[in-house]
Amino acid sequence: MAEARGGGGKRAVGRNAVRVARPTGFCFGVERAIRLAREGQRRFGRIVTLGEVVHNPQVLSELESEGIRAVSSPRQAGKVGALVIRAHGCPPDVLETCAGLGIRIIDATCPYVRKVQSVARRLKEGGYAVVVVGERDHPEVRSILGYCGRPGMVYTPGRRVRAEKIGVVAQTTMSRERLRLAVADLSRFRYTELRVFDTICEEVTARQDAAAKIAADSELVIVVGGRSSANTSRLAEIAAEAGARILHVESVSELDRGRLAGVGHIGVIAGSSTPAWVVREVARFARNPSQGGP
Ligand code: SF4
Repeated sequence: MAEARGGGGKRAVGRNAVRVARPTGFCFGVERAIRLAREGQRRFGRIVTLGEVVHNPQVLSELESEGIRAVSSPRQAGKVGALVIRAHGCPPDVLETCAGLGIRIIDATCPYVRKVQSVARRLKEGGYAVVVVGERDHPEVRSILGYCGRPGMVYTPGRRVRAEKIGVVAQTTMSRERLRLAVADLSRFRYTELRVFDTICEEVTARQDAAAKIAADSELVIVVGGRSSANTSRLAEIAAEAGARILHVESVSELDRGRLAGVGHIGVIAGSSTPAWVVREVARFARNPSQGGP
């Protein structure tokens, strides 16, 4: 269980009053990817996913128990009915490799990620150097970079891009504040042209807004989701910035009664890859830790 403390100083009004942020449960893109993988298995037999279909340990072990496993490259897929491209998407050369190997593709790239890829490609075709505001090693960012041509790059604070026309896109899970700061930083260099596309997912924005609101009214915020989930980590950052104490857990088993006893207001927020049932278990435990939770 990871714990961090923000500013704090809120007054406890009651004991273990728990509020769960909305929306919660899978976002549209994650739900769709999981559904397409399962449908693919019914239609084509053995299915693999290119990388983890979702950054959540419970979902991954559920899928594994159904026979749907992740591979790290198309070559690792072996003899399969189909390979699923996850919601993060993939660079176009990966699709070409699959075609060369004769691997059937189920493309579960989230339509919102697809939109970022299309904007990046159009910018490249228009002669812009494309800058992606996002996490360099995140699979979604790597997939977008594949459409940026050269030079396509991840935003680095304070670094001037050697080009006159710059096009900016954002990883779908970025916070608007980070995008705003990045654009302000890039503006200092006075490029001939600086075009900005706000490609942040509205679903992500709704969760970030809810996280900030709940954190402002809570002494403790439990963030539920995979530790490798970018959108979950961002929610934890936002809640900490609002001054709440943060517990980041992947499941209810990581909570212990001692830490929750006597806390007045508790907020529960969850990333878009966290199943609703995991959130419910955590909320139930937080409400009544002395009963041992669920
Ligand atoms: S968070 Fe948004 S962009 Fe990412 S998979 Fe979900 S719906 Fe798609």
